[in-house]
Amino acid sequence: MIKFYNTLCRAKQQFTPQNPQEVTLYTCGPTVYNYAHIGNLRTYIFEDLVVRVLKSKYPVKRIMNITDVGHLTSDCDEGEDKMELGARREGQSAKELALKYEQKFFEDFDALNCLRPQLTPRATDHISGMIDLIKALEDKGYTYKTSDGIYFDTAKFPRYGELVGKSHLEGLKSGARVEFNSEKRNASDFALWKFSPKNERRQMEWPSPWGIGFPGWHVECSAMAMEYLGDTLDMHCGGVDHVPVHHTNEIAQSEAATGKPYARFWVHGEFLVISAGKMSKSAGAFLTLDALKEKGYHPLDYRYLCLTAHYRTQLDFSFESMAFARATLKGLYERVCVLKEDDKAAGNPAALQEAMDKFTQAMYDDINSPKALSVLWEYIKSAASNRDKLAFLQHADAFLGLSLLEQEAEPMLPPAAEELLRRRSQARKDKDFKTSDELRAELEKMGIMVRDTPKGQEWALK
Ligand code: AMP
Ligand code: ZN
Repeated sequence: MIKFYNTLCRAKQQFTPQNPQEVTLYTCGPTVYNYAHIGNLRTYIFEDLVVRVLKSKYPVKRIMNITDVGHLTSDCDEGEDKMELGARREGQSAKELALKYEQKFFEDFDALNCLRPQLTPRATDHISGMIDLIKALEDKGYTYKTSDGIYFDTAKFPRYGELVGKSHLEGLKSGARVEFNSEKRNASDFALWKFSPKNERRQMEWPSPWGIGFPGWHVECSAMAMEYLGDTLDMHCGGVDHVPVHHTNEIAQSEAATGKPYARFWVHGEFLVISAGKMSKSAGAFLTLDALKEKGYHPLDYRYLCLTAHYRTQLDFSFESMAFARATLKGLYERVCVLKEDDKAAGNPAALQEAMDKFTQAMYDDINSPKALSVLWEYIKSAASNRDKLAFLQHADAFLGLSLLEQEAEPMLPPAAEELLRRRSQARKDKDFKTSDELRAELEKMGIMVRDTPKGQEWALK
């Protein structure tokens, strides 16, 4: 039985799809105006775990959009379009900028072993679907016009805000949480279509029944989700920051238009934080996967770090925890290499099945990846046969996505040789070539060849 914490009812619930032949899943994709930071990437790793859990039981159809227009600097329809702003920053067209960062996003996504969604539609290719959705809302009387756009009247949708809860909405009504646009009827109303500024041409704008402009960010997701997955999705995921505005608005406009529930399960991932505060792409100061690579980490070290925390708890990033994740994963890879050396001994199928079930149950219990990892380590350190351990790891890796069985054995250096190499490197730094030659001779006797290169000494087994 698979359980997920459903934000909609604030409880863990058993998950069953509408159609067991195809689970429909929508996950909000990147806004491609800059590099993804490792906080964004934590959300995509969490969503990948959702996909892998679902996939272990059902075929999954997942759509993840690419936001390449309409996401304003404030999620509440104020400020500038992040894409146009980014285009000015880099002296490129908004289209070029979008393509550049979309490509970079997928490089990171693949490096983290995230499974590609079935479709990754771009917002700019779906403008007519968005216009149709707004027209449907207009026909039903949910919209009104202001000087800068067409807005959704949230007072006309009595269930507005169920996802986030009443107390938050009270705060919104008093205007405490958002910049209040005086033409809005209610503080929580949101733009469906924004007009291009008068006497100014935007890079990205389209004609519409209401005038030249561009779609609101929320309407993009609803239109693309329903176009590809139908009116009622099995599940919709995203970062927890999307609960109060983006997903709340997606629900309002979709359900107002169709009269049907929009998504049965809402599953949200918590933030990655850096002790000093939340990591923010627009604030400019953020860590990318490339920055971690430059420091010598492998992308999967970061994936392992994310797996050590439950997706619904904040993860406080530090380089200490990164180093720990790296050392642990490396240790696991080394064990796998040793297991592969001799995997002939027969095993204990019942005990293996029991361990695999325990692992799966942890993943099925609202993706309890920390518990699943502890089951893994317990079994790997047990007296089970190498063959059983490898079978267990193969099962576990379908969920974890750590390429556990694809590791090649690295030649192992005897510990005594490590010390000789360290001393030899120091001798060369001290220009003590006599000692360095003596140490080389000693290492050769141990079967280790040493070569000096501009980057330092390198070794190989004879
Ligand atoms: P964006 O590209 O800005 O639309 O964000 C992409 C995804 O990253 C969204 O699902 C956000 O909820 C998520 N996100 C943004 N910041 C963080 C963070 N610090 N930790 C985890 N997820 C985040
Ligand atoms: Zn979205």
